Amino acid sequence: MPNEIAASCTGLVKIYRTATADVHALKGVDAAFPAGTVTAVVGPSGSGKSSLLRILAAVDRPTAGSLRIGEVTVSALGRSPLRRIRRRLVGYVFQRPAHNLIPYLSVREHVALAARLRGERDASKVDELLDVLAIAHRRDHRPHQLSGGEQQRVGFAQAVIGAPALVVADEPTAELDSKTGERLLETVSALTERGTSFVISTHDPRVVEAAGRTLHLRHGALEAETEERTLSVIDEAGRIQLPPRALTLFRDRRAVIEVEDDHVRIEPP
Ligand code: ADP
Ligand code: MG
Repeated sequence: MPNEIAASCTGLVKIYRTATADVHALKGVDAAFPAGTVTAVVGPSGSGKSSLLRILAAVDRPTAGSLRIGEVTVSALGRSPLRRIRRRLVGYVFQRPAHNLIPYLSVREHVALAARLRGERDASKVDELLDVLAIAHRRDHRPHQLSGGEQQRVGFAQAVIGAPALVVADEPTAELDSKTGERLLETVSALTERGTSFVISTHDPRVVEAAGRTLHLRHGALEAETEERTLSVIDEAGRIQLPPRALTLFRDRRAVIEVEDDHVRIEPP
C-alpha cells in the first residue's frame, strides 16, 4: 500500500463557457495522490480548488487532460461504469453542506445508504462513525433540523463510510468549531492508516497542519511544491509559530524582523 497511487491527474484543464465569457478555471494541473496520505489544497477564493476537487472526485469532467483513480483511467469511461467507480472508490463532500444531503432522509439513513452503495455490510460501522463525529444524538433528524456544522459532518460521514480508496472533501471544516473539527481530523487520520487517500481543500490551518503535504493553487495552476512552504497561524497577539526546520536558524531564540511592502523578513541577528 505505501507506494500505491490512489489517484493522479495530468494536464487537467477546465473551461466554463458562460454567456459572456470563457472562464479558464484550471490551466493544466498535474498531481498524484498517494494512498494513505492527506493532501491539502489551498489557494485564494476563485483559484480553482472546487473545480479541481470536483474533477478528482469524478463528479465533473475536465475540458482536457486525464484522471486516473486506482488503476482506471476515469476520463475515458462512459456514464455507468463511471458511476460505479464513483460509488465504490470515491467519497466526495460538496463545499455547501446542504448539497450533500437529501431532504427526506434522516442522518442515519444518509450514512446507511452510503454504506450500502459502497458495499459496507457491517451496520455497526454506521453507528460507530456517527458517534465519533458527534452526531449520534441527531441520528433520527432530517437535514433541515440540523445546524450547518452538523450537516457538514453528515456529508463527511457518508463520504468516508466503508473506507473508499479516495476521499475528496471541499472545505469540510468550514462550519465546524475547533472541537468537532478535531474529531473530523481524527477520523481522517484513522482512515489514512487503512490506506485511504484524502484530498482536502481548505483555508483552515488545522487541516494544513494535519496534511502530509500542501498544494498551492493560484489562478488555476499549481505553484511549485516546496518543503519550505507551510501555512502558519498568527495568533491575536501577533505570534507566529515557525516550522521546526526554520527554528534551527535561531539558536539563541532572537530574530530581526523587517517589514516590507508585501512581506515580512525574519532573520537571525
Ligand atoms: P475556488 O473553489 O478556489 O474558490 P472555483 O473552482 O470555485 O474556485 O472557481 C474557479 C473559477 O471558476 C472562478 O473564477 C469561478 O468564478 C469559476 N467558476 C466555477 N464554477 C463555475 C461555473 N459553474 N460556471 C462558470 N464559472 C465557474
Ligand atoms: Mg471552492
